[in-house]
Amino acid sequence: MRALLIYPEFPRSFWSLKQSCELLGRKTLMAPLGLLTLAALLPRDWEIRLVDLNTRPLSEADWHWAEMVLLSGMIVQRDGMLSLVRQARDRGKPVVVGGPFATSVPQDFLAAGADFLVLGEGENTVPQWLAALDRGETRGVFQPEARPEMTASPVPRYDLLNLDDYILMGVQTSRGCPYNCEFCDIINLFGRRPRYKNADQVLAELTTLYNLGWRREIFICDDNFIGSHTHARAILKQLIPWMKEHGEPFGFWTQTSADLGHNLPLIDLLTAANFSHVFIGVESPDAEVLSGNRKYQNLKNPLDQALGNITANGLAVVPSFIMGFDQETPGAGDRICAFVEKNHLTTVMLNLLQALPNTALWDRLQRENRLQGVEVSTDMIEASFNFRPIRPVSEIMTEYIRTVDCLYEPRKYLARAYRHILAMRPTRAALGARAAKSPALHITGKPNGKKTLWSQRRKLGSLLKLLWWQGVVPEYRGQFWWQLLGVYRHNPSRLQRYLALCGMGENLFQIRAGLLAKMAGPKSRPEMTVTVGKE
Ligand code: SF4
Repeated sequence: MRALLIYPEFPRSFWSLKQSCELLGRKTLMAPLGLLTLAALLPRDWEIRLVDLNTRPLSEADWHWAEMVLLSGMIVQRDGMLSLVRQARDRGKPVVVGGPFATSVPQDFLAAGADFLVLGEGENTVPQWLAALDRGETRGVFQPEARPEMTASPVPRYDLLNLDDYILMGVQTSRGCPYNCEFCDIINLFGRRPRYKNADQVLAELTTLYNLGWRREIFICDDNFIGSHTHARAILKQLIPWMKEHGEPFGFWTQTSADLGHNLPLIDLLTAANFSHVFIGVESPDAEVLSGNRKYQNLKNPLDQALGNITANGLAVVPSFIMGFDQETPGAGDRICAFVEKNHLTTVMLNLLQALPNTALWDRLQRENRLQGVEVSTDMIEASFNFRPIRPVSEIMTEYIRTVDCLYEPRKYLARAYRHILAMRPTRAALGARAAKSPALHITGKPNGKKTLWSQRRKLGSLLKLLWWQGVVPEYRGQFWWQLLGVYRHNPSRLQRYLALCGMGENLFQIRAGLLAKMAGPKSRPEMTVTVGKE
């Protein structure tokens, strides 16, 4: 069987990180881990071709080659997925759809003409579907009877990728989250009892990436890496010596809940394993909003202190905030800005609340007759709601625009990045907690001289681009150089991290510029600012 696996294009969002891709010479942010795992579940004698539409277009030769088309994606890729189903049907190719969005809203894909829906987690349902194919069946919907243990999950087929296209590789060590936030679909998709890969499985995946030559950042894309502190500790305790033996080939990013900030030994293990960034859903600084959304874990201990502890101990916090909650009161955006400034949070995600199918929020809004459609808005410039909020949309949108303007203003962003880095302790190497190391001495595989040289050139190119973008062209170039000198003098081991934050800022400056330009556009009148969302 010749199976064509297609990953639909992502619409513009915070995660597009176009400027980071340009700066680093990559095509997209992250590899499609779901399809790589699916590929590993397919029979070994199948020929597999993976096309990630975020890195290259589909060609007629791809369609012609395929005997079967397999698709997966998230809700934000809905339009692309449905269009691919129709294209496959038009060419007479059998089409199989799976992944989180198809699991939540399967009827859309049946209506579009998909032959097979393989729902839930593939470890359970892919074998059911393969057995049906063996029986000669040509259509079917395969539902999981239970959630699979992750110890049954195979090593994803990273070998199908062109690794140079990506900023981050994904590795998943667990699924599910013990918390119960009203707006989150993780609980229904993956459950509140987290399930785990064991440390040997995780190291086998890292070894695969290492052997393929990957030497950059890895996103541990668990829903909440510290959903179980015991699991996180078990993985980290084996990961730390593995990293040392292999010359620390990777840096790690992950997602955690804010309670990480009150567990200093766990933060210490994370940084010892070379974790650099943690994404944390802060959502709101307002207690009523947090309790209304069952985000009790952000109320239990002071959030300020938690985030401060994480930063001070060497992890950059990437917080997300949401506007449009029912409990929100006027001034919500200003309070987010004040919280971000006070805690010198730098790369901040700001979204309008979206009702996702398969969530408690969706069910409640349906009961209240407030839903306006399945489509979710991820585009921060064309932001809108898919439900009727309680506050007037015009009021929320005015605050949202003001908040984006405040958070992503380059001078303010860079000033926060500076304070963020000065608040962070020096690296372990600088503290002398780790012996100075030379990667060449520690790497067990044979270093590829040509690759290393190419990677150094690429890094130099990225640095020169950043210096041009922020140190030569803009009006705030004086601030850029002054702060760079300040970091060099006061926390030199964090210079690289600081420059990475400056680079991340470019994505946010562009979002702000796009939103302000839209507001100032030819059709923009004062009342236009209130029609951005659906009233
Ligand atoms: S903590 Fe995060 S992953 Fe867990 S339920 Fe809340 S939003 Fe979802």
